[in-house]
Amino acid sequence: MGNQIKISLPDGSQIEAEKGNSVYDIIGTIGKGLQAAALAAEINGEKVDLAAPVNGDARMNVITFTSEGGKDIFWHSASHLMAQAIKRLYPEAKFAIGPAIESGFYYDIDVAANFTPEDLEKIEGEMQKVVDEALEIRREVLPRHEALKLFGDMGETYKVEMIGELSDDTVSMYRQGEFVDLCRGPHLRNTSQMKAFKLVAIAGAYWRGDEKNKMLQRIYGIAFPDKKELKKHLELIEEAKKRDHRRLGKELDLFSFSNDVGAGLPLWHPNGAVLRFVIDKFETMEHLKRGYKLYGVPHIARSNLYETSGHLGFYTENMYSPIQIDGQDYYLKPMNCPSQIQIFNSSMKSYRDLPYRAFEMGTVYRYERSGVLHGLTRVRGFTQDDAHIFCREDQIEDEIRNVLEFTLDMLAVFGFQEKSIYLSTRPEKSVGTDANWEVATNALRNALEKNSIKYTLDPGEGVFYGPKIDIKIRDAIGREWQCSTIQVDFNLPERFDISYIGSDGQKHRPIMIHRALLGSLERFIGILIEHYSGKFPLWLAPVQVILASLSEEQAEYIETLKNRLLLEELRPETDVRNESIGYKIREAIAKKVPFIAVVGKKEAEEGTVSLRRRGENKSENMKLEDFISLLKTEIREKK
Ligand SMILES: [Zn+2]
Ligand SMILES: [Zn+2]
Repeated sequence: MGNQIKISLPDGSQIEAEKGNSVYDIIGTIGKGLQAAALAAEINGEKVDLAAPVNGDARMNVITFTSEGGKDIFWHSASHLMAQAIKRLYPEAKFAIGPAIESGFYYDIDVAANFTPEDLEKIEGEMQKVVDEALEIRREVLPRHEALKLFGDMGETYKVEMIGELSDDTVSMYRQGEFVDLCRGPHLRNTSQMKAFKLVAIAGAYWRGDEKNKMLQRIYGIAFPDKKELKKHLELIEEAKKRDHRRLGKELDLFSFSNDVGAGLPLWHPNGAVLRFVIDKFETMEHLKRGYKLYGVPHIARSNLYETSGHLGFYTENMYSPIQIDGQDYYLKPMNCPSQIQIFNSSMKSYRDLPYRAFEMGTVYRYERSGVLHGLTRVRGFTQDDAHIFCREDQIEDEIRNVLEFTLDMLAVFGFQEKSIYLSTRPEKSVGTDANWEVATNALRNALEKNSIKYTLDPGEGVFYGPKIDIKIRDAIGREWQCSTIQVDFNLPERFDISYIGSDGQKHRPIMIHRALLGSLERFIGILIEHYSGKFPLWLAPVQVILASLSEEQAEYIETLKNRLLLEELRPETDVRNESIGYKIREAIAKKVPFIAVVGKKEAEEGTVSLRRRGENKSENMKLEDFISLLKTEIREKK
């Protein structure tokens, strides 16, 4: 009695424990397997170490590698492990920050040595020793002044600077063997838990990301509880490298960047431009079929527009400096909506006009720091498949259902079947009435549920102007990419005084829905290149077929053939060089072209081609008409 406490578990069950027992011991009474897999736990919602004592009745949630936040704890512990190894090898090294990131961890280090890949191996070797020593990882809490002295004596100037900025009276730190690091925790209980790790990259990083500060060395790493998972992860990285769209973009001559044009501003080469055009044309037609009206607005607009929209207030850091024309400020368009609203507002709309759907492939320019630019997936100028729907509150649900269906259909056409869907609700700072938010959030939820779509709730993660649905797609090698977004907006209709005449003859305010299905075309094409590994399906392939001659004698026939295919809106290329057919085929395979049609003397005389499909070794003799209709059927079916 008195010494017994009750621990409630997530499944609703309860266990008893002795007051003051450690989290680790309590988990042990549930099961040894769980105890071995446990990294930390949540006690009454607060993340704690396994060594922490539990002193009263509590709710407990065990954190393993796969639970939410589990990887962060594991990877952050691995960064301490790496720092300890580095400190042993380079005693003069000073440490800045070492967080867990989306895929692994890093530590920023101030050290005279210039790290090389060989050094990483040496550090890995030392890390293994620390793991083998099975050091207990212990939390300690010191008064602030003592912590300052401790890290000051160690010469850890960056840590001293960080402690100086904390407002707490006490500071927590973690010790393992001879190594101690300033840290909030929680951490693993023992270094032996980090069974598999790999240091993957070295980079330069300024202290606090500020180029006025000293450049430090950043080592990136990854860690797993077992070797098999690490192996799988490293294979995935290799596969991702092979598919890197920046590399394939060059190999397949799709796009490039020019210093003279500017960073983050892609140049579309013929192969890339045609791919972009095919997607643009297809998507625009799909919008027209669904009753969207087509809009077109300029790339710049006066400052007045962005004052009204509010972008000059809350979005300026993403906008470029103004351009002066006739003494007035013009801005490169950071978003399409304000300009599009001018078209909607150019005539009075009635309730019969709603829902009113306006679509545009709209190009926008946004400032991104040069350090985050990345091929096509992070650029400074891009084109969105952007639409705005103006509707009444009672129409939101149906409109969202339509948009959801449209989005999923579009993604499926491009081979994205798997996706995760999120519903984000009202954030702390927001505009709009409680009633507005409730109606819109319910409409989004109902739309998801009526369309039988599984989703995750993201409480408080909506935009300040309304709730939203985000869709992440999973590519061929299991990576997730944020693409589609559907957002309800109460703000812009107010700011631009948008209205329609209701059946009562009075003016009413419509709701606005912003939505992009593929998102940025540039980014989507970057994702597509990696998803297909450059092997585009026939309907998207920039070059659909290479017409290759056996000898130069067929050059004329091949030219006629090419012109015939062009008239059929197909995309052929010819190869009539004086090279062996084996060589031509190998080159066509390297270009990942879906079909190669070989023409020799016999084919030229009979009006046939010898057709070979990408990925197959055999070829088939085919009449020209059959060949054309085969291609056209496959293009129509978008296989
Ligand atoms: Zn830490
Ligand atoms: Zn918009």
